[in-house]
Amino acid sequence: MKKTIRDYDLNNKKVIIRVDFNVPIKNGQITDDNRIKESLETIKYAIEKNAKVILLSHLGRIKTEEDKASKTLAPVATRLSELLEKDVLFIPYTRGEEVEKTIGNMQNGDVILLENTRFEDLDGKKESSNDEALGKYWASLGDIYINDAFGTSHRSHASNVGIASKLPNGIGFLIEKELKYLTPAMEDPEKPFTVILGGSKVSDKIGVIKHLVHKADFILIGGGMAYTFLKAKGYEIGSSLLDEENLQFCNEILASYCDKIILPVDSVCTLYLESNEGLIEPIEHIGPDQIGVDIGPATTHLFNKYIELSKTIIWNGPVGVFEQPPFGKGTKKICELLKNNKNTTILGGGDTASAAINFGFKDSFSHISTGGGASLEMLEGKELPGISIITDSTN
Ligand code: AMP
Repeated sequence: MKKTIRDYDLNNKKVIIRVDFNVPIKNGQITDDNRIKESLETIKYAIEKNAKVILLSHLGRIKTEEDKASKTLAPVATRLSELLEKDVLFIPYTRGEEVEKTIGNMQNGDVILLENTRFEDLDGKKESSNDEALGKYWASLGDIYINDAFGTSHRSHASNVGIASKLPNGIGFLIEKELKYLTPAMEDPEKPFTVILGGSKVSDKIGVIKHLVHKADFILIGGGMAYTFLKAKGYEIGSSLLDEENLQFCNEILASYCDKIILPVDSVCTLYLESNEGLIEPIEHIGPDQIGVDIGPATTHLFNKYIELSKTIIWNGPVGVFEQPPFGKGTKKICELLKNNKNTTILGGGDTASAAINFGFKDSFSHISTGGGASLEMLEGKELPGISIITDSTN
């Protein structure tokens, strides 16, 4: 258990909250404000407790001076102000006199947002390499540090690890919720425990498979990565995705855990990815020109046998090219099957989460993890530095 924002008296304190405002912005317009909404509970709590709220976030990557124009947090401040129904002062700097003066003049309950922390990356990657002096400087601006940016917790940055190592600290409500669901599922999952994996590359999921194959009762594999496993089993996969380098890994896993690894028995196939038409083929009938783009109905039926009996299910990676409606049926069906399971169901990964939300299943699971890379690293059993650095609770 980590200290949380509730463990501190925030009254009259300058509270630095690291939030995840890494939202998609097109032509200055925010196209998805979910991440801003998810940070509201912590920000509102700090306001109610009379804190002076200083918000830090990154937005995208900053590699050149030109990147700054499209990666400013200014539109986020405007949207946050609308959502909070109160003024949010945006400071277009990450450090300096204006930052210090403005913070010095803050009243209790005020909210300010500094410019994108990664603007500091132009000068020797100071934010992303956790530059000691930068972390110390940002820490000097506040009294208490709260990390609520789960999505960057797998990285050691100046705006998380750097500041947290210098100030009394805790986690916010968003990270608390992530840990509430992910920690027990990883440490002591109620059994049967099933993991559903999809997405494009085997290489991205090797760490997860290696870590969870011992803990899980079943690993159901769909998506592009399934075809490398099928190839390893000796099937013709036509022009489907093949991760040749990891064929050997698939072979070894299948040899050691053949009862646990459940592979598709049919596939939606097409002749070219841009097509709107797919044919359902039994796996043994995939032709040399065909590309497998989704799991078929016999596979969802098979997967459901495991889903129905499971007490804990973690799903990471869409099981088809869900961005194209004809090839999104498998992913949608998995959403429906998980919705019917009233036990613990957890979704992780940016693509899986956005697919499920876009298909209308936002509230159908126990938990949808907000962090793509961070939740994947948790599934790999790794410690997240942005959370490890937070003081343990003694309660
Ligand atoms: P990842 O980022 O590894 O989680 O992969 C997500 C991507 O995998 C999505 O963009 C899907 O379109 C893609 N994907 C899922 N199934 C397939 C498939 N059968 N062939 C190619 N790409 C796929």
